[in-house]
Amino acid sequence: MELWFTEKHTESVKFSIQVDKQLYSSQSEFQRIDIFDSKEFGIFLTLDGYMMLTQKDEFIYHEMMVHVPMSVHPNVKKALVIGGGDGGTVRELVRYPEIEHIDLVEIDAEVVSACRKYLRQTACGFDDARVHIYYEDGLKFVRKFSDEYDLILVDSTDPFGPGEGLFTKEFYGNCYKALKADGIMVNQHESPFYPNDATAMQRAHKRIVESFPISRVYQAHIPTYPSGHWLFGFASKKYHPLDDCDAEGWKKRGLRTGYYNVQLHKGAFALPNYVEEMLEQVEKKP
Ligand code: SAM
Repeated sequence: MELWFTEKHTESVKFSIQVDKQLYSSQSEFQRIDIFDSKEFGIFLTLDGYMMLTQKDEFIYHEMMVHVPMSVHPNVKKALVIGGGDGGTVRELVRYPEIEHIDLVEIDAEVVSACRKYLRQTACGFDDARVHIYYEDGLKFVRKFSDEYDLILVDSTDPFGPGEGLFTKEFYGNCYKALKADGIMVNQHESPFYPNDATAMQRAHKRIVESFPISRVYQAHIPTYPSGHWLFGFASKKYHPLDDCDAEGWKKRGLRTGYYNVQLHKGAFALPNYVEEMLEQVEKKP
């Protein structure tokens, strides 16, 4: 007997992974949560049938979300992670000793408890004394703050279901307000490849450009996400992602990484022409 997880990437494209065993399945208040084990990708988490992470390629997403802004901002003391209930982003953040305080705002407590049990690889940073977990809607949480955080990482699901509010103009405006005068926001920016994903990516980009003075996009190859070509948004009040990157300082830290390095940091901001054109289209629109 063969058991397969299949995600529809478009109406006519499917992505499948052969499953050894289903480890967990639950319908929470917010979404369906499933955890599977597989030969090729190890343990993987899906929400409402959409791939969130696999043990084999999660390092790419989490390293690119955290180390890119951390090599640019010279003094991150207080960070906010919105979403990210699997813990991968927090795991990378706690590697920086200068960070004094990390708030994680996850809407669904069941994602955190399931990952604590079945995905220790990502959930291993939750018990660090600097980490404070709030089970709330990130959209509402961030409204409460002004001039509070050095870094905000939006590690959300896609722009539908519970994650929808995390792609709105109101949300990006409130992140701007919650950041200090030299704060940085990084968000998962969807994929440019399939038309529906590209439209969502352009919509998010337009809203971020309208909210932040510096807004650049960078890319990574994440095999289990639709098309494998994934984007991140770098939005900033002061620091430029390339001009202000302290490559030597970051190298001196001696952090072992599987994907990120400071040469790749530079390269990740060099986008294919078709992606640049998509971004320019919405940057120019009134
Ligand atoms: N790396 C993943 C991806 O892009 O596919 C995202 C992973 S992480 C599991 C996303 C988390 O965001 C989920 O656990 C989900 O519950 C949480 N989330 C969705 N909407 C949210 C909201 N409005 N506020 C806070 N967390 C939210």
